[in-house]
Amino acid sequence: MSENASIETLGGIFRDNQIFALMSHVRPDGDAIGSQLGLGLALEAMGKTVHYWNDDGLPENLEFLPHSEKIARPPHEAPVVDVAIALDTATKVRLGENNLRAASRASLWVNIDHHISNPRYGDVNYVDATSPATGQIIYEIIKSLDMPLPEGSRDAIYVAVSTDTGSFQYDSTTSRTYRLAADLLDRGLAVGDINAKIYDSYPYRRIELMRTLLNTLQLSADGRVAHWDMLDATRISLGLKPEDSEGLIDLIRAIRGVQVAVFFEELPDGKIRVSMRSKDRSTNVCEIATLFGGGGHALAAGIRMAGPLEAAKEKVLAAIATAI
Ligand code: 5GP
Ligand code: MN
Repeated sequence: MSENASIETLGGIFRDNQIFALMSHVRPDGDAIGSQLGLGLALEAMGKTVHYWNDDGLPENLEFLPHSEKIARPPHEAPVVDVAIALDTATKVRLGENNLRAASRASLWVNIDHHISNPRYGDVNYVDATSPATGQIIYEIIKSLDMPLPEGSRDAIYVAVSTDTGSFQYDSTTSRTYRLAADLLDRGLAVGDINAKIYDSYPYRRIELMRTLLNTLQLSADGRVAHWDMLDATRISLGLKPEDSEGLIDLIRAIRGVQVAVFFEELPDGKIRVSMRSKDRSTNVCEIATLFGGGGHALAAGIRMAGPLEAAKEKVLAAIATAI
């Protein structure tokens, strides 16, 4: 079933079932956790039972979100679940094996996402690649179905959309995104307070990481590709958490003349995580990521590939040079 379901179909699923497992991708970001809480708290307000699972648990930087303590690692034994809902997750494997096992008794799989590369792995799919954040899709579903929008959902949706649009800056931001933000403010969102919690309370180790990354910064001869890399030893010596590097790539994406920014990260298992940003639709980084089994969006994509670091860098930088 690859066609998008209608919002009414989703409404019927929400109405006719009782127990929901809401899941998001490994190394969750603001859109992943925000979409889970945004939809889940609305379902709870309708009297439903909701599990909030993530294979990596709740990142420290999102602990400020109301009710975020509900986000748990999936249980080892699969409980009774009517509907499994994958949110913001481009491929089913990115949910992680513990999520997949915990949700194995669900009779229906729903896939709600905004990644263009999503292969529509649900029984029911709602994939809107024109949406800048899964949180915006959640908001539109809640509004269209006249579902409750409790304060926790309001704050979670704001965080989802703000973080996935680079604070309402990226090209993917539309007038609907600004209307969403305006509506959330009308509903009492404390915008200064929530932005301070997202953007003005980084741990010191993140700035130390920035210093380390800057020492590895390289610019291609034509000035169009900037990249930096991080060894696993840096993670250990600075005591880094996965979320500490989130968004740092925007610093080198912002260099004048740079078309593609790349961040190579050595993972504890020896694999290499590649994070790419393009400033220009003529260079589609999702297509480059797909060459190596990754995916994402035209202007922001990622890969997990075999190491070692130098070999991965060579291959990916060559593919980028060809694409540009
Ligand atoms: P980031 O660079 O922020 O980790 O990810 C950028 C975008 O690419 C996100 O939308 C993310 O979901 C997607 N992405 C990152 N890593 C992977 C990956 O290994 N596989 C796939 N399919 N998508 C990824
Ligand atoms: Mn997203």
